[in-house]
Amino acid sequence: MQTICVYCGSSTQVDEAFFRTADELGGLLAAGGDTLVYGGGSLGLMGALAQSTLRDGGRVVGVIPQFMYEEKWHMEGLTELRVVTDMHERKRTMAALADAFVALPGGCGTLEELLEIITWKQLGLVTQPIVIVNVNGYYDNLLQLFDRAVEEHFMRERHREMWTVVGSAAEVLPAIRQAKAWDTGYRKFAAI
Ligand code: AMP
Repeated sequence: MQTICVYCGSSTQVDEAFFRTADELGGLLAAGGDTLVYGGGSLGLMGALAQSTLRDGGRVVGVIPQFMYEEKWHMEGLTELRVVTDMHERKRTMAALADAFVALPGGCGTLEELLEIITWKQLGLVTQPIVIVNVNGYYDNLLQLFDRAVEEHFMRERHREMWTVVGSAAEVLPAIRQAKAWDTGYRKFAAI
């Protein structure tokens, strides 16, 4: 049983395929006895993921900044809702709780969270597995940009080992189990 941090979009306007993946992932987390940690929102994929995890008997911890709580963007009925000072404390808290990170499709908030956690891993600040769920090729362009970053020597080849790309919710938990181990000492590879 693990605590899985999931980053995902808050938009309500996205394709049904993305909602299905969020729904399915929530069910799988609940079935596996894992705890979901996420941004605590009620809308979009964030809401769908939390609802399906709760529906299937799972535990959900939401971590939401005070201003979003005041805007009433949080989900009611979570196992636990942590209201934190700001976005930075939210991301620090989520990372401190997580045994693994998963990025479903999302907008700039999700991209920022994903890229920050990859950056922290590159610097040896975190070592947990990172899984990118590339539903309908949503992340293809970002993955091409990572290729380019390696080609142009902004990153090392071994930095690709920081994340695993899967195409569906069903592949997420196996990918976490099979992720290549990362070490805080890999900080020494951060300088290129
Ligand atoms: P995005 O991928 O841009 O939709 O961003 C998802 C992230 O944006 C979340 O983790 C939150 O930081 C933030 N966010 C944006 N809008 C909302 C909302 N209505 N409710 C909760 N979080 C939101």
